[in-house]
Amino acid sequence: MERKNAWKLCSKKDCQEAFALSEDYRRFISDCKTERECTLESIRIAEENGYRNLDELVKEGAKLKPGDKVYAVNMGKMLALFNIGKKPLQNGMQILGAHIDSPRIDLKQNPLYEDTDLCLLDTHYYGGIKKYQWVALPLAIHGVVAKKDGSVVNVVIGEDPSDPVVGITDLLIHLSQDQLQKPGAKVVEGEALNVSFGSMPDPSAYPEERPDPAAEENSDAADKKKDGKHPVKAYILKLLKEKYGIEEEDFLSAELEAVPAGPARDYGLDRSMVMGYGHDDRVCAYTSLRALLAVPEPEYTGVCLLVDKEEVGSIGATGMQSRFFENTVAEILALTCESYSDLLLRRCLKNSCMLSSDVSAAFDPNYPEVNEPKNSAYLGGGFSFNKYTGSRGKSGCNDANAEYIAYIRKLMDEEHVTFQTSEIGKVDQGGGGTIAYILANYDMQVIDCGVPVHNMHAPWEVVSKIDIYETTRGYIAFLKGGR
Ligand code: MN
Ligand code: MN
Repeated sequence: MERKNAWKLCSKKDCQEAFALSEDYRRFISDCKTERECTLESIRIAEENGYRNLDELVKEGAKLKPGDKVYAVNMGKMLALFNIGKKPLQNGMQILGAHIDSPRIDLKQNPLYEDTDLCLLDTHYYGGIKKYQWVALPLAIHGVVAKKDGSVVNVVIGEDPSDPVVGITDLLIHLSQDQLQKPGAKVVEGEALNVSFGSMPDPSAYPEERPDPAAEENSDAADKKKDGKHPVKAYILKLLKEKYGIEEEDFLSAELEAVPAGPARDYGLDRSMVMGYGHDDRVCAYTSLRALLAVPEPEYTGVCLLVDKEEVGSIGATGMQSRFFENTVAEILALTCESYSDLLLRRCLKNSCMLSSDVSAAFDPNYPEVNEPKNSAYLGGGFSFNKYTGSRGKSGCNDANAEYIAYIRKLMDEEHVTFQTSEIGKVDQGGGGTIAYILANYDMQVIDCGVPVHNMHAPWEVVSKIDIYETTRGYIAFLKGGR
């Protein structure tokens, strides 16, 4: 069974639309590099399209009717958007889910130190990364610092072309004799991922004339007395105070993430692809949101669910395993029906269908040995469906029901969506998990799907513009779907 390349099935208009959509997406991921930034920007886009905050509607005691648009946000890092359908909610929803956290290098809680007259930031990486890929790269720092007075300071360093960037040093090849004998996982180790943050004491204290190194007042002992033990760190702290109003203690309540600096770019001479940080899984998140906005009056309530913490096991208050989604559906149900009951909530969840979206591993001709070609996703192959993910014997997977896949095939074929089917690599090679099984615990129909990607989890990942487009068309076909 062979499937056609999506470019070969597209019209001039499709091609134009694919490029226009991909440009919107390229801008989105260039600006949004953390789960918080993705949440904020998605709320902005949603409000522009008539979505209202659930908290306000609950306060007003409002009633929801078909066509109403609502969103709920969880701690600034997780978002659920609902487009109320014509059918009663207990008949089920059409849910698009994706995650907005991406692998990166988080700063530790006590990060700042000085070593050999350099100021450094200690880190703890987040998600599965090949550590050696994150050295000798321009990095930016994005995040928030929450202060004791209740204010939250936003930080973005390294994105404006006039900003400085930061980075992590790599060992020079000339002295790498021993390092290069190590296995890949040990070439660069976690504790060596320290971000270079500064290297000079405060210049405002420098004398007008070049100091005499032999003079008594310039001895090491005199220096220490004058500048303290860590003058380079002290100057960094002064800059942080001036620019952000933060003290060293404020790092205790901060979430700061080192990510690749700079915008996503068109990739390939033909500009058919996009190279960017965090396609996993913002390429599915952004396209899910766009699809939701493209179907204003659905039969079944349309949902776009954007979650945090997928890359570390979907745990915590903002991960898929939290009660946030269930609680939010309960609130929405209470605003749409005459008399709320727990049974109606159970029915609503059970009768729902979900596309659990996450990037697929695209076949890479440089590494053909890890894939089984008939069951691989290809860049340019269109929207990719995975009946199951998991690893080594489907362990930990959500195995979508055959009947549900038949329903999905029908929806895709009716709208001429180019799709492909795949699994992550050869059977014994490895694999991965998604949020699919967590929603399936509600007894709803769930299938894994998404956009194929090259370089998954590397600082710069690659996707195809036609896959972005076909995936969005697929989401739209799903949201319009009846039962
Ligand atoms: Mn991932
Ligand atoms: Mn993912």
